Amino acid sequence: MPKKVHHVVRRTGTRLEDPIIEIPIAEDIAGVPGIPQIEKDVDFFSREYPLETQNVEKAADREWSWSVYTPEVFEYRELHEAANKPFVDAASVTGEIEPTAEPVGRDITEDICRKAYELGFGDVGFTRYDRRYTFAAKKKWAKFQGAICVALEQDYAQTQSLPSLEAEYAHFGTYETENEQCLVLADFIRSLGYHAQVHSPNDNSSPFLPMFVEAGMGQLGANGQLLSPHFGSRARLAIITTDGPLTYDGPVDYGVHKFCQECLVCADRCPARAIMRDKVWYRGVQKNKLIYDRCRPVMSTYEGCAVCMKACPIQRYGMKPVMDHWVETGEVLGKRTHNLEGFSLREKGYFGPGELPSFDRSLFDFPHGTKDEWLFAQFKDKVADGDGATPEEQSAFIKELKEILDIGTSTVGDE
Ligand code: SF4
Ligand code: SF4
Repeated sequence: MPKKVHHVVRRTGTRLEDPIIEIPIAEDIAGVPGIPQIEKDVDFFSREYPLETQNVEKAADREWSWSVYTPEVFEYRELHEAANKPFVDAASVTGEIEPTAEPVGRDITEDICRKAYELGFGDVGFTRYDRRYTFAAKKKWAKFQGAICVALEQDYAQTQSLPSLEAEYAHFGTYETENEQCLVLADFIRSLGYHAQVHSPNDNSSPFLPMFVEAGMGQLGANGQLLSPHFGSRARLAIITTDGPLTYDGPVDYGVHKFCQECLVCADRCPARAIMRDKVWYRGVQKNKLIYDRCRPVMSTYEGCAVCMKACPIQRYGMKPVMDHWVETGEVLGKRTHNLEGFSLREKGYFGPGELPSFDRSLFDFPHGTKDEWLFAQFKDKVADGDGATPEEQSAFIKELKEILDIGTSTVGDE
């Protein structure tokens, strides 16, 4: 017997001329709009323990990643970095650029929405830029209050080939396009008479996902990704902030929070066993946590991995078919089928439902923390080991530390 429908979510399509899509949310997975959170806890953690960008906090393993890429991935990543850097650099100074016209003096939400779709974005939403999530290194950089959240879909077919070099083309190629489109959209906002600051997805000012959820553009999946009603987790996210007058959207209950606990395909299929099956309260938000130290080495070694994206039914089949199927049958569309759950890992072979690869323990030995933290950790081991560090080792340590301190913290990354 079909399940009782609690409410129906209506969303515009991925193009302005597309019909409205209607997604039924069954009674047993209806929850709260957005994500369950305790505001005072979010406030507390953001004040006392501000987030920091991975470009700083995880700099040691980001650098290490390059050492485990295949030659093909290495070569492609170098090409991508060269192509993408001008956009990221241009975005970093957009907050300083003055508007090119007098303010139009009216709400500009609709103008921006139309322009975003015209540029090719598949979804756009509006909310307040939530400074509680701003990375410590970006606190002074982020300028404006109104946040325009834009999502660009990456190629469907390439995404289904995850993990592969082909899928990496989709992943990083989409970022290149998105960065360029954001700069154009910011120019457009300036032509309406207002400032516009581009928050590049490759030099994030904060995790963008909470603001996308607040703008009603999806909900947080157990795989740690935004599950969009249009493309599941197959989207790349960016934000532009402005001082122009906007009308904000609100969070939506797509049923994802509870549906994920019925599904958990991403947790079942993660080759690294990195996704926690049970939700925990973390920094004031209830979510399935991802164990970074398990994910990182697998992701870096195996072409970005992202099996958790590939095997998500909402990514693979779309939110509406998945929610329709849940209402009609009480089953997760595609669960335990090869079509949804099967994946291949280079040199390991094919893994169908119920099968996972195993890895040598040494795969999970990799550098942690910032570069100087990792250098200190290694030096401490040398000092503690037998006769302590030799004079040569001490000199090498000081030389490397000086190099790190001279480099500073302004590295740009892409993941
Ligand atoms: S990227 Fe791979 S290893 Fe990391 S959480 Fe997703 S499936 Fe697991
Ligand atoms: S695979 Fe299932 S549990 Fe994981 S994010 Fe997608 S819907 Fe949620």
